[in-house]
Amino acid sequence: MKQLADIVGAEHVLTDPDLKASYETDWTQRFTGSALCVVRPASTEEVAAVLRACAAEGLKVTVQGGNTGLVGGGVPAGGDVLVSLTRLSTLGTVDPASAQVTVGAGVTLAALQGIARDAGFDVGVDLAARDSATIGGLIATNAGGIRVLRYGSMRQQVVGLTAVLPDGSVFSRMAGLEKDGTGYDLMGLIAGSEGTLAIVTEARVRLVPRFRARAVALLAFSSTQAAVDVLPGLRSSLPSLAAAELFYAPGLALVRKHSGLAAPFPEEHEAYLLVECADLTDPTSLLVQAVETADGLVDARIADDAAGQRALWAYRETHTESISAEGVPVKLDVSVPVRSLPSLVERLAPTIAGVAPSARPIVFGHVNEGNLHVNVLDAGDLHEEVSDAVLRLVASLDGSISSEHGVGRAKVPWLSLSRSTVEIETMRSIKAALDPHGLLNPGVLFP
Ligand SMILES: Cc1cc2nc3c(=O)[nH]c(=O)nc-3n(C[C@H](O)[C@H](O)[C@H](O)COP(=O)(O)OP(=O)(O)OC[C@H]3O[C@@H](n4cnc5c(N)ncnc54)[C@H](O)[C@@H]3O)c2cc1C
Repeated sequence: MKQLADIVGAEHVLTDPDLKASYETDWTQRFTGSALCVVRPASTEEVAAVLRACAAEGLKVTVQGGNTGLVGGGVPAGGDVLVSLTRLSTLGTVDPASAQVTVGAGVTLAALQGIARDAGFDVGVDLAARDSATIGGLIATNAGGIRVLRYGSMRQQVVGLTAVLPDGSVFSRMAGLEKDGTGYDLMGLIAGSEGTLAIVTEARVRLVPRFRARAVALLAFSSTQAAVDVLPGLRSSLPSLAAAELFYAPGLALVRKHSGLAAPFPEEHEAYLLVECADLTDPTSLLVQAVETADGLVDARIADDAAGQRALWAYRETHTESISAEGVPVKLDVSVPVRSLPSLVERLAPTIAGVAPSARPIVFGHVNEGNLHVNVLDAGDLHEEVSDAVLRLVASLDGSISSEHGVGRAKVPWLSLSRSTVEIETMRSIKAALDPHGLLNPGVLFP
């Protein structure tokens, strides 16, 4: 402890249970673990020194950013040193020539969006946890969110990375080269590695144009199939399509219960698709045209002003908080080929009822990627059984047990449903090569 205090300053080594508490339980309140101490380094050099000190003492390390992860990956296993990256908060200056900016791993997505927008750009990834989720955490989980349809996941936004390996050595490629064909894509490997291979301390992020002109529509359907069927037409007729978010009547009812929002339509409908277009010029008329000619719609609302757009987005973005306000759900983030999404949705409720008859599934997702967030309330002590049934259903549809949140600690027992033995052994070899003593994030990703 003394050695860690010498590196980061005594005030940044927390051992008081009250001070450690907020780091030891995750956002969902489902995962909790006791840390030996919380260490808050402020630079790459301090992170490297902390890892060297921990390696010398054989201390395991849990890595944490904004602690908004939903699979328990940033919560201590028990008795380990928790390294919090939030003090790595340096904001660089946007380089308009390359449309890139360098930021510390502890910078929040909202702060990055702020400097990007001030410079006339934007960030390709966006999600509801933007005020707390950090760039390091977004990279470590290869976060997705609401703009994947247009810009891809976080891995696609990273053009430079500095990371500290478990032995304290530093890997840094910060030139921001858009083309670099010299061997293995190590930055791509660290993205999505969930803190099991290295600690990200700094990133150079590719920015996207800032489109101020927006139009948002909420579309109502009588089935998931109808909502999925409308997507190809929207994609081809709306080059400015930036988001397509799916939710259902039970989720909307929960959102309205907790937010007090008015009903969006006079009648309740089975499925809802929230679509957003963003462009240099007002995309409203194109969106109206696309909505008018779309098949299978039963109702629609379009908002062309900022307040109306915020109101429509609130129906989708307050799902996670509204679900958590009801209790601790079983949280599963899965994806299937888009053509299988209707089948997944149809089979979910009976599958869940088969193992937990009084459970309440609330689902929503990012339709373009076949990504469904399955939240199951009132599962009692049947969390494992519900997870097992849902993840096996997903695997039977050629899906992934983790679409964008990662495996963390939550889904470790089911990794083999999505990855073959050869793939898992290859991943283990990579882990063993970079972290031979298993110091970083023990219990995350691998059993
Ligand atoms: C309301 C809400 C909405 C959300 N919506 C989405 C969504 O739409 N899409 C989506 O993908 N996710 C979503 N999430 C999940 C979460 O925001 C993301 O997983 C995010 O990337 C986590 O960032 P963080 O800084 O909070 O990381 P943490 O929760 O602190 O950590 C997450 C993982 O990354 C590792 N890690 C953190 N920082 C580093 C680092 N610097 N170096 C190495 N490893 C690190 C941790 O060890 C852990 O395994 C949502 C969460 C909430 C609460």
